[in-house]
Amino acid sequence: MLSYRHGYHAGNHADVLKHWVLVLCLQYLKQKEKPFSYIDTHAGAGCYALDSVYANKTAEYQEGIVKLWQQASALPPSFKDYVQQIKELNAHGPLKSYPGSPWLAANLLREQDTLRLIEMHPSDIELLQDNMAGDQRAKIIAGDGFKEIKALLPPATRRGLVLMDPSYEQKKDYQQALTAVREGLKRFATGTYVIWYPLINSVWAQRFSSQLQSLPTKEWLDAQLMVKLPPERHGMYGSGLFIINPPWRLQEQLTEGLPVLAQLLAQDESANFQLQSGTNK
Ligand code: SAM
Repeated sequence: MLSYRHGYHAGNHADVLKHWVLVLCLQYLKQKEKPFSYIDTHAGAGCYALDSVYANKTAEYQEGIVKLWQQASALPPSFKDYVQQIKELNAHGPLKSYPGSPWLAANLLREQDTLRLIEMHPSDIELLQDNMAGDQRAKIIAGDGFKEIKALLPPATRRGLVLMDPSYEQKKDYQQALTAVREGLKRFATGTYVIWYPLINSVWAQRFSSQLQSLPTKEWLDAQLMVKLPPERHGMYGSGLFIINPPWRLQEQLTEGLPVLAQLLAQDESANFQLQSGTNK
């Protein structure tokens, strides 16, 4: 039984890092007229109310999107489109809603593009269906993202982005993510893959980044944002994004934007970032 609900965490520092980069990657794919597919293996509910009981139980968004929102005018240009998406969702006033990855993709994709959104939690599937209602480009798949991705690759469009954003509730998620990406690359080597992972005190999490770096990929970027000192026991102190076949300007945009995020989202003096890149084949 899944207990993770993204509603508790929406808009936190990890979402800010992930969604900023997701918007940059989608905007890049839109530079060509040719259609592309967006595949979200762990889609969540699609959109979140920041004034809900869920969000306010942890209030993680206060340490994430709220801090960014307050400094929006001072951010580097690469944050413009991400911030604009949040403005559009909150067009009638203060920051009350936060977009999930399906909402961001649906708002950015064009008529010719398609969305494939996989989610496993029964309650979040229902919310996702409501949030995507009427969008003919979107297909919602109730199931296991690690397995369902197989049938979706390669996309008919032969262009696309896969977002893999598991909750890592179970340690087997790390291995399943690696296997799904490795298999995915065999079917669709030219796709862009964005894989999110937590920075926590666990051997599984700590070796995940180097396991990703060993995948047979042409080009990759590995961006980590640490918002505080690692706690002695449990708790997330930051997160990472592993990007396979990144857009050509992404490294430059991350180099400029990560120090800004590390400063803005710092929860103590240890806040920092790391950006690695590589070519494997
Ligand atoms: N990608 C979303 C976003 O950025 O707005 C957030 C996703 S949240 C971190 C992870 C989601 O994966 C949760 O909604 C959870 O219910 C779902 N989930 C967990 N295991 C899954 C699986 N094996 N297949 C598909 N969804 C799963």
